[in-house]
Order: sequence, then C-alpha cells, then structure tokens
Amino acid sequence: KSEYIRQMSLSSRMIYSDNLLKLDNQILTQNIEINKLQLAEQQSKNQIIYLYLSLVGLFILCLLAFMWHLFITRRKFKKRAQTDFLTGVANRQHSFEQGEQFINHAKQVHQDISVLLFDVDHFKKVNDLLGHESGDNALKVIVAKAGLCLRKNDLLGRIGGEEFLVILRDTDLDTAQEIAERIRLEIAKESIVHNGMKLPLSVSIGVTCSKGEDILDEMIARADKALYKAKNNGRNCVFID
Ligand code: GH3
Ligand code: MG
Ligand code: MG
Repeated sequence: KSEYIRQMSLSSRMIYSDNLLKLDNQILTQNIEINKLQLAEQQSKNQIIYLYLSLVGLFILCLLAFMWHLFITRRKFKKRAQTDFLTGVANRQHSFEQGEQFINHAKQVHQDISVLLFDVDHFKKVNDLLGHESGDNALKVIVAKAGLCLRKNDLLGRIGGEEFLVILRDTDLDTAQEIAERIRLEIAKESIVHNGMKLPLSVSIGVTCSKGEDILDEMIARADKALYKAKNNGRNCVFID
C-alpha cells in the first residue's frame, strides 16, 4: 500500500512538473510574441517619424525654392523698371534717383562731382533720311561708345529721346571736360549707313562740376545751358558752365 501511495505521489509530481514546464513554455512563447509586436510597433513609429521628417524637409525645400524665385523675379522686375528698353542704360527716373544719391554722397565726403549732358546732333535727319530703325541703331551705337569712356561707377542714363545724362563721381571740371571730349571724339568716328546712304554721327555736350554744394536740378540746368551753347556753336563740341 505504501508502495502504491509512493507511486501515485511520484506520478502526480511528474504530472505537476510537466504542467509547470508547459506553462513556462507558453509564457515564454507569449513573451516572444509580445516582443515581436513591440518591435513591429516601434518600427512603424520610426517609419511615421521618417515620413514626417521627409515631409517637413520637402516643405522647407519648396519654401526656399519659392523664396528664391520671388527674390530673382523681384530683382528682374526692379532692374527692368530702372532700365531704358532700347539702349539698356538707366532710364530717366532711375538716372535722377541715382544722380541725387551720388550728389548727396559727394556732399558728405566733400568730393567733386561732374555732370555731362549730351544730345545727338541733327538726329531728326537720321530718322527722316535713314528710317526710324537706323535711328534706334544709332542710339545703341552712341550708348556703347559713350560707355567705353566711362568708369564702372559712373552713371550713364537716357533722360530723353536722344538726350543723355552722365554723372562722373569724384571728378573735377578739367577731368570731366577731358572725358566729355573723349566721348565726343569716339562718337564722331561713327556713322550710320542704310541703303547706300551714310550719315555721320555726333553729339554736343554740356559740362558742369560741383564741389558738393549743389543739388542735381541745379547742375543739370547749368549743363543744359552749356549744351545750348555747344549747339549754337555749330554742334559736335563740348562747352562748360
Ligand atoms: P539738334 O541737333 O538741335 O539736337 O537737332 P535734332 O534733330 O537732334 O533735334 P530734334 O529735337 O529736332 O529731334 C530729335 C529727334 O529724335 C526727333 C525724334 O523723332 C527722335 N527720337 C526721339 N526718340 C527716339 C527714339 O527712341 N528712336 C528714334 N529712332 N528716334 C527718336
Ligand atoms: Mg538732338
Ligand atoms: Mg534733344
């Protein structure tokens, strides 16, 4: 009997430990499943973060591209608004704005500043005899030739149909007169040819200089007076005031 009880107890202990082992296995398997699920959850969270960061990056890139486009377009329109369409130099409004700035600066730093005003001689004849297109070409040639005689920070602007303003910074009257003479000579070398007909080109120039005490309007009025004298003197010449 006692052997029977011992046998029974042994077998029930074995069943018990077997069940315990199975339970342990089950818990382990469940733990592995939980870990797998947690890993999958973490991976999908990472994917969402990655997607979010990519979207933010893309948005910032688009914003920067848009801002760059605005900046370039604004600069292009500003430049266009300041430029004379035919000759590519400063237009009337921009010439006066720049001129005023240059003169104010000259006043502040006590520098000489000179103004040249030049007008194409008998330009109506070029249009009448060779046509308006030849007249336009003549204006382009005149601007190119005048530009060759100027420094980078001087101003050349078209302020009328065939009338141009030059502002020479840090330039005294003698130097301004020399530069005006150079411009006159460069242009007088040129002529316009159309359909076998040839017309010489020339300009008359009025020059004035300021020690920094004038305003632009006064300087232009003086240069205009000198230009008028140059025209009355037979044209293709330089006068100072
Ligand atoms: P002056 O020597 O006294 O200056 O005589 P001018 O013939 O040059 O002067 P006038 O003022 O009588 O004529 C200027 C001419 O310039 C008249 C106008 O048709 C012409 N003109 C003005 N702007 C332009 C332009 O953009 N293109 C062309 N082709 N001609 C123009
Ligand atoms: Mg003229
Ligand atoms: Mg004129």
